[in-house]
Amino acid sequence: MRRIYLDHAATTPLDPRVLEAMLPYLSEHYGNASSVHAMGRKARFALEESRERIAAHLGAEPGEMLFTSGGTEADNAALRGVLSSRMPHLVTSRAEHEAVLRPAEAWASSGHPVTFLPPSPHGAVTAEQVAGALTDATGLVSLMHANNEIGTLTPIEEVASVCHERGVLFHCDAVQAAGLFPLQAGGVDLMTISGHKMYGPKGIGALYVRGGVDFQALVLGGAQERRRRGGTENVAAAVGMALAFDLAMAEAGERIAHLTTLRDRLRRHLRQALGTAFVFNTPFVTDVAVAPHIVNIAFPPSDGQPLDGEMLLLNLDMDGVMASAGSACTSGALEPSHVLLALGRDRETASASVRFSLGKDNTEEDVDEAVDRLAAILRRMRQRREAGTTASV
Ligand code: PLP
Repeated sequence: MRRIYLDHAATTPLDPRVLEAMLPYLSEHYGNASSVHAMGRKARFALEESRERIAAHLGAEPGEMLFTSGGTEADNAALRGVLSSRMPHLVTSRAEHEAVLRPAEAWASSGHPVTFLPPSPHGAVTAEQVAGALTDATGLVSLMHANNEIGTLTPIEEVASVCHERGVLFHCDAVQAAGLFPLQAGGVDLMTISGHKMYGPKGIGALYVRGGVDFQALVLGGAQERRRRGGTENVAAAVGMALAFDLAMAEAGERIAHLTTLRDRLRRHLRQALGTAFVFNTPFVTDVAVAPHIVNIAFPPSDGQPLDGEMLLLNLDMDGVMASAGSACTSGALEPSHVLLALGRDRETASASVRFSLGKDNTEEDVDEAVDRLAAILRRMRQRREAGTTASV
């Protein structure tokens, strides 16, 4: 059976060109970038060259980029790095990734004011909502660029200008957008990106911190990253992430066109094959912008009977289709996705949701076959339910 990977929002495969560029730094060039000898200098050169290339894609200065262990650490570092008891109020949304929500909740539980904006039923947060939430004590607004579960885009420039009019810092989690859209860090004060969402390696991310922003390091230790992130740098991963970003930007036009074609085909085929048995969680409506790689669907209860979402995913996996329930971090957990609940979906419908996320190497056959397999599984599940057995299909 041919396996079909439709979980690119969880992670992407490592581009072979990226692997090749990384290999020397995992073998002969193993120096520590802080060592002053030749081997160390070789590593330092590669690290700084990678930093420059990543910064250039964001229109940033190299000194404004710090490498982290991934998107999660960069998000944590952003919030923990700038929030202070002098300007303690944080504004974020209920639809953020856990990497922002958890530190936001921790900040709230230590007695600081936090506003969790409710997204619209389409998952969008507007600049007007942000403006309405700002107070004289607001130190930071943190909103994601592209929602990792349903793909809704936040109007980043509008939010940034609202924040800047009020002298408030703006952090943008651009993990799902980096490598797809041109991003200009200049509009924001802090920005998170991650290597493994753009065909680069796992375990590396970067945080842009605009020059002049008062930033406290999250990870204390050595003097690496200009004392803003202690720990020996992962040179091979930095080299990989820089090349992955170069390739993504060079191929962005092609990739977006390909993903949009596949996404629209997936939408059409789902409707043709499943009729009205499902709803789109991704808002395919004219006035909401969405990322080109995510199609999230839900199965509301039919005849009062909820669909077993876990069973559905399990069967998709057994039939060779790799997708996700909500985000990768929540799949496997029994709790329905916090994002879908925030959109107003009831718990049963939110629990019976599947996120397909497309990648540059997917084909039209992948899409067609995934829908055919999904339709066959749903038929089997319905037959089993009618026959009164739910154990397995
Ligand atoms: N932010 C968003 C929007 C994400 O989608 C993810 C990963 O799913 C992260 C942050 C965390 O990134 P990482 O997996 O690099 O820690």
